[in-house]
Amino acid sequence: MPADAASAFPLPGPVTALREIAFQLERAGAPTYRVRAFRRAAQVVSDLPAGELERRLVDGSLRALAGIGEVTAEVVTQAAAGQEPDYLTRLLQEQGGPLPASAMRAALRGDCHTHSDWSDGGSPPGEMAEAAIALGHEWMALTDHSPRLTVANGLSPERLEAQLALVDRLNSEFAPFRILTGIEVDILDDGSLDQREDLLARLDVVVASVHSKLRMPAGPMTARMVTAVRNPHVDVLGHCTGRLLGGRRGGRPESEFDPEAAFGACREHGVAVEINCRPERRDPPGRLLSLAAEAGCLFSIDTDAHAPGQLDWLENGCVRAERHAITPDRVINTRPADQVTQARQ
Ligand SMILES: [Zn+2]
Ligand SMILES: [Zn+2]
Repeated sequence: MPADAASAFPLPGPVTALREIAFQLERAGAPTYRVRAFRRAAQVVSDLPAGELERRLVDGSLRALAGIGEVTAEVVTQAAAGQEPDYLTRLLQEQGGPLPASAMRAALRGDCHTHSDWSDGGSPPGEMAEAAIALGHEWMALTDHSPRLTVANGLSPERLEAQLALVDRLNSEFAPFRILTGIEVDILDDGSLDQREDLLARLDVVVASVHSKLRMPAGPMTARMVTAVRNPHVDVLGHCTGRLLGGRRGGRPESEFDPEAAFGACREHGVAVEINCRPERRDPPGRLLSLAAEAGCLFSIDTDAHAPGQLDWLENGCVRAERHAITPDRVINTRPADQVTQARQ
């Protein structure tokens, strides 16, 4: 295709439109499977050899492509004609536009807790990074699950090493934006961590979370959490109560533990208490967030995004932090990447 033909026909239009629809659906909380058709279609269109999209638009054979259905074909056709697709217009109207950002949101530079399709997220690391860049982030920690969480396709040491190599390549592509290497590592029953020590030592951000035996009695649960927090590799204590509020998984009560002991250990060891922004988590609950704030803890306002659109959930946590008079200097993701990657304070 000659260069002037490429500029006369803006190929990124349809791909961008499909991704924008997926982003808006995810941001509104749609389950990943509902969004998949749009992300898949974006990939199909972006992989087409030069000239093929134009040819198919002319001869009406878009839908003969695997991965392009009635809805996505209409989006592609309208976007290729330089229009905003009707589907996107409707979606943007329903959402009512972005919320006014809080002062805390404006202070955030990144996100310490995100997942990709390497574990149980819906999109590849590169697409997560592109969405983070579009949101104005300077960095994003990629924290896929650890091996024991088989339901979430947790990363074996070998897969984690392969992911580190990928992040290296993506970082040269996306600079100055940076993907920080990381993990959401399971806190095992005895407080030890579910990944090889030498690998944890190599990672920029380690979020440690309880995902199993959530009903353990308070005594052993407290010991388990404190042991994890004392581990020198841990930077963030993820969703500390494990509660789930309604939603697809039907709700789950808070785990029981001694919050003074757990948050005291976080403060002592410089581990940030996560303020998890997922609408079904909102963890820790208000009374515990209050306690952690009074205890003098650091915090990390994290989306725990499993899809690109969910990266825009930070405001949920910012509002809660401000309500508890937590100031930006106590929130680690207001810091530039090179400060976040330094050994914890
Ligand atoms: Zn988790
Ligand atoms: Zn997570």
